[in-house]
Amino acid sequence: MKSCPKFTFGVGDRFAHQAASQLAAFQLAAQAGVDLVPVWNKSNREHLIIGSEPSGTRAAADKAVADLGWTQPYLLDADHINLKTVDRFVAPCDFFTLDVADDIGEAADPADIEAFIAKHPELLGKVSIAGIDAPFEITRADIEKTANQFLKATQKAGAIYRHIVEAKGGTDDFVTEVSMDETDKPQTPPELLVILAAIADQGIPIQTIAPKFTGRFNKGVDYVGDVTAFEKEFNDDLAVIAHAISAYGLPSSLKLSVHSGSDKFSIYPAIRRALARTGAGLHIKTAGTTWLEEVIGLAEAGGAALDLAKQIYATALSKKEALCEPYATVIDIDDAKLPSAEEVNGWTSDQFTGALRHDQSNPLYNAHFRQLLHVGFKVAAQLGDTYLDALKANEAIVAKNVTGNLFDRHMKPLFL
Ligand SMILES: [Zn+2]
Repeated sequence: MKSCPKFTFGVGDRFAHQAASQLAAFQLAAQAGVDLVPVWNKSNREHLIIGSEPSGTRAAADKAVADLGWTQPYLLDADHINLKTVDRFVAPCDFFTLDVADDIGEAADPADIEAFIAKHPELLGKVSIAGIDAPFEITRADIEKTANQFLKATQKAGAIYRHIVEAKGGTDDFVTEVSMDETDKPQTPPELLVILAAIADQGIPIQTIAPKFTGRFNKGVDYVGDVTAFEKEFNDDLAVIAHAISAYGLPSSLKLSVHSGSDKFSIYPAIRRALARTGAGLHIKTAGTTWLEEVIGLAEAGGAALDLAKQIYATALSKKEALCEPYATVIDIDDAKLPSAEEVNGWTSDQFTGALRHDQSNPLYNAHFRQLLHVGFKVAAQLGDTYLDALKANEAIVAKNVTGNLFDRHMKPLFL
């Protein structure tokens, strides 16, 4: 396997035009004393909506790395892939997020469940984990229930992993993540322990795992939920991971992956405290909102670029149902709080950027406006060269927003 660095930071770049301005934020972090490894991620869903190819993401990342003289590691994530979608990601990617959320709850072979329970007597009864005050009390019925929920999913993850190794010609020179976050019900720390035991049984050299955490992780806006409950769960998950590394011989680099859906600012202090206390590593996927920073840059530029930003909003509003449909479970848009296209057409640059930029202290900030535009990138994709030419014509002002967002709103509060 390819060893995964301690702190990896996943960024999205929908239109493959911001890799350099994203990488500039990693350079600022390095200058400030923290080594963060960029991981460019783009899911199959995003590629399908835009009509792009994973090889294009690779080309953009390689070019940015060469242009900026970045000599540290960087990775390319085949984000949320499964057996059906992985193939076009195999060649360009060196980080694979095996998404088995859809397989949770699918019944495993009863004989496999029996075999799993027989193999893991250590999971039965009082299970003490360093760093967690009260031991887990796990009954046979609990293991059976958890295995019924998750064993099949881990078997599927094993099948995807072996498929990638085979497709890469028998080598596994990549980082493997398993994701279970795109589901409604959070996985508890005891469930995570059972899941990691099952993943180890599959022989997957897992280095990052993305559970579904408690609370809502809507796209592009802040966390909604009980921050204290999140912090306890996050800390317990870290303890479970450390335990599973030694109990099941999993890679010592195994760490939590937070699929944040971008911009979960209110849980950053809890994550920061946990990392400082434990010395644990982290993979964070955030700032898939880079495309919103492009729109903010265009709006800030004014003139024709501001008009284009307004046009994108008006179109997104008119196609709201279709745009929101693929993201229905991860957005909460109140239609009554969406400004009309006419209203937005009368806005100044400051009004537009104030509504869109994720600054909750700005009274103009509108989370509904922001979420609709966030899922509205298809509108910009359909504008084709009109949109891409505007990005090029306003490159400096867009780059300032992309870099500043990553560094000031994400890297600083988490790591600096
Ligand atoms: Zn995810």
